[in-house]
Amino acid sequence: MKAVKTYDVIIIGAGPAGIFTALELADKGLDILIVEKGQDIRDRIATSLNRDAKPEDRVRNVVCGWGGAGAFSDGKLTLTTEYGGNLDDYMPKADLMDKIRYVDEVYCRFGGADRKVYGDENKDRIRDIKRKAAAADLSFIPARIRHLGTDVNGQILTHMRDFLEGKVDIMADTAVDHLVEDAGQIKGVLIKDQFYACRYLVSAPGREGSEWFVHEVTKMGLHLTSNAVDIGVRVEMPAEVLETITDVVYESKLIYFSKSFDDRIRTFCMNPYGFVVEENNDGLLTVNGHSYAHKKSENTNFAILVSKKFTEPFHEPIKYGKYIANLANILGGGVIVQRLGDFLDGRRSTPERIQRGLVRPTMPKATPGDLSLVLPYRHMQDIKEMLEALDAIAPGANSRHTLLYGVEAKFYSNRLELSSVLETKIPNFFAIGDGAGITRGLVQASAAGVTVGQEILRREAK
Ligand SMILES: Cc1cc2nc3c(=O)[nH]c(=O)nc-3n(C[C@H](O)[C@H](O)[C@H](O)COP(=O)(O)OP(=O)(O)OC[C@H]3O[C@@H](n4cnc5c(N)ncnc54)[C@H](O)[C@@H]3O)c2cc1C
Repeated sequence: MKAVKTYDVIIIGAGPAGIFTALELADKGLDILIVEKGQDIRDRIATSLNRDAKPEDRVRNVVCGWGGAGAFSDGKLTLTTEYGGNLDDYMPKADLMDKIRYVDEVYCRFGGADRKVYGDENKDRIRDIKRKAAAADLSFIPARIRHLGTDVNGQILTHMRDFLEGKVDIMADTAVDHLVEDAGQIKGVLIKDQFYACRYLVSAPGREGSEWFVHEVTKMGLHLTSNAVDIGVRVEMPAEVLETITDVVYESKLIYFSKSFDDRIRTFCMNPYGFVVEENNDGLLTVNGHSYAHKKSENTNFAILVSKKFTEPFHEPIKYGKYIANLANILGGGVIVQRLGDFLDGRRSTPERIQRGLVRPTMPKATPGDLSLVLPYRHMQDIKEMLEALDAIAPGANSRHTLLYGVEAKFYSNRLELSSVLETKIPNFFAIGDGAGITRGLVQASAAGVTVGQEILRREAK
């Protein structure tokens, strides 16, 4: 096949994983191409502000384009190894922490330096919570977070784009259609039937491109393992109950291993004075939560998620999660809400019972119902135990008035077998970021890009 052009490195996807690979490699005498199926950053921002843009363009623009899935997020950089991915499965935690520090420095260099880092204060109070948590069999993991804010996040991505101008070729609004491999060697990519050759291929297509990616690598005969699926509920209670935690740290995670099943259960995404919201995943309605800077509710919400990894012969955890979420949709027409007291007594919540409760739901459209008709016994038992343990550090968490909304589910892309430098079994073919199923956040996705960029430079220096 004759190549239109030959590059040293082709990078698929201009999310943080792809951008950080390019930042490492720029100005090192290599010919580099980034291919991004969404819009370039300035066009992308313009589309997001254009109310007349076609609805399908606006939807695609949310997760596709320069900056990737989190380009319009408020850019919380989690500077802790315990959050945002599983890169510690591929490298020692100390090395990952070095990379996280390095990534933070890069974000600072491009415009994030004066943004506040949360989590460095209140050391004594954090130690106190940790002690109480440990006594209740809970592991309390506070996060250090640099909060960029949506506007600064956009500026940083624009500065990175401008820095790379002239140093790498950038094809926006262009999707890679196929990967090209021959006799176990990576050769390049096909874009609209045109062949672009390369010596190194870095695939960073994000969650959005993961299905396409799985299809492509399966054709190459590469082996994938299924990831865990996290299923649970969003919990809502008076904000005062959790102030012992939320006043001390911006974001934290509590982990518990259930006595009944030894399952790993964690809290996720705590929103002080926040709101519970519906999330539409291609028509499947699940629950999520968020908080505003200026609009406050009286409640705090967070997720309790049970992690389940399946073994042989089952390979479809995402299908399993969707099946359970769909049951809630069938029974409740969408998200179901239930008082913890009703959940424990084995009866449904009715509008009257919710009305009599002490916690006012911030998602009034959720249907009062019975989550025991939806969640497997194992998940119900795990959630019950988690709330009992939580009550030890936040008295009132296990109140009969606490509200449970279901179903909350987190799906992760399948994982390829990768080496410690994130290389597939095919030499010089790397798979990184959320699309490879190994990261779940901006910082670890960026750190994956750094890892591969540095490895390519190391090989080139030989
Ligand atoms: C609304 C939202 C808010 C978030 N907020 C935060 C946060 O505050 N903090 C945090 O740490 N994380 C956050 N995240 C998660 C974070 O954005 C992701 O973990 C991160 O962007 C993953 O980076 P990535 O480079 O692996 O993939 P992505 O960012 O998804 O980028 C992949 C890119 O590849 C492109 N692509 C896909 N297929 C192809 C193809 N065939 N050819 C060419 N291009 C292709 C896509 O268009 C996309 O732009 C948020 C995510 C969302 C959706």
